[in-house]
Amino acid sequence: MKITEHIDRAKGETLFSFEIIPPVKGRSIQELYDNIDPLMEFKPPFIDVTTSREEYVYIDKGGLYDKKITRMRPGTVGICSSIQHKYGVDTVPHLLCGGFTKEETEYVLVDCHYLGIDNVMALRGDAMKEEKYFRPTEGGHNYARGLVQQIRNLSEGKYLHETIETDDCSDFCIGVAGYPEKHLEAPSLQSDLKRLKEKVDAGADYVVTQMFFDNDKFFEFVKAARENGITVPIIPGIKPIAVKRHLQLLPQVFRIDLPQDLIDAVDVCSNNKEVRQVGVEWAIQQSKELKAQGVPVLHYYSMGKSDNIKAIAENVF
Ligand SMILES: Cc1cc2nc3c(=O)[nH]c(=O)nc-3n(C[C@H](O)[C@H](O)[C@H](O)COP(=O)(O)OP(=O)(O)OC[C@H]3O[C@@H](n4cnc5c(N)ncnc54)[C@H](O)[C@@H]3O)c2cc1C
Repeated sequence: MKITEHIDRAKGETLFSFEIIPPVKGRSIQELYDNIDPLMEFKPPFIDVTTSREEYVYIDKGGLYDKKITRMRPGTVGICSSIQHKYGVDTVPHLLCGGFTKEETEYVLVDCHYLGIDNVMALRGDAMKEEKYFRPTEGGHNYARGLVQQIRNLSEGKYLHETIETDDCSDFCIGVAGYPEKHLEAPSLQSDLKRLKEKVDAGADYVVTQMFFDNDKFFEFVKAARENGITVPIIPGIKPIAVKRHLQLLPQVFRIDLPQDLIDAVDVCSNNKEVRQVGVEWAIQQSKELKAQGVPVLHYYSMGKSDNIKAIAENVF
């Protein structure tokens, strides 16, 4: 079922959902299940599964190094299908422009359709680890908007190189990313909102936001989005702080601000167990306020470990 249908059926009740990352290549999928199991009691209608950019690896050839490309966390669509099968919940594979040609994307979309996956998240992806700026992949999309358009075209039987008359068109519900504190490359929040509107006009059905730690940033973003004609559901993304290093890492990587009260609370922690507790308490307060304001879904970034998400959900749902 589509995410938008789940939201409609909830009739204003806030839903619980979360995002997971595939295991590192060679690790068991059971580790993933072990972290999903404790969260199932909160009845997530959908679970997102991320896709990682490809990475360079250097293979030692007796003193000379061969530069190769690899994917450390493959298996997004397979994991989505296995979760749907095992738990009976919808899944949302993340699709990236970076690292994929349009043909490869079409192939993945056909797989998703056959596997009964009704939702996809359309993203550009970040720059590769060793690169400062995002470089579009040859034969791929430059921006998420193009990817949204490609996915939407399939609902009319428009494949990349032919239009096919069929009664079995895929009809994906498409999510896109939004940034309450603007995307790091955008010259201004207003121009980023214009880009977001373009994604929605191209066919996106809902928006999931980047993490934020000050709810006012989210409320202002939703207001500005509505003023810019973006009417689709906007789902807040919540990440509980888990280690002290997040104080430097999150602003650096995502260009987001952390409230002083949160920084002070983390600063006095003497170990990461205490930091994790502060992160949980902060996320509970954020979630309760967002829920009281009637957000359609609270979407949590789990980063593989679910104990903190469970502690939050127990207090909020
Ligand atoms: C909810 C969520 C889930 C995510 N999941 C993943 C994941 O699974 N894997 C992963 O690698 N990354 C993921 N990301 C990160 C995302 O890939 C990065 O933030 C990426 O840098 C931007 O992706 P986007 O889809 O927002 O890009 P876009 O919407 O394409 O925007 C990228 C930048 O380009 C600008 N822009 C857009 N169109 C144009 C144009 N026509 N001309 C000039 N500028 C333009 C925008 O303002 C923005 O600054 C996720 C982010 C979010 C919020």
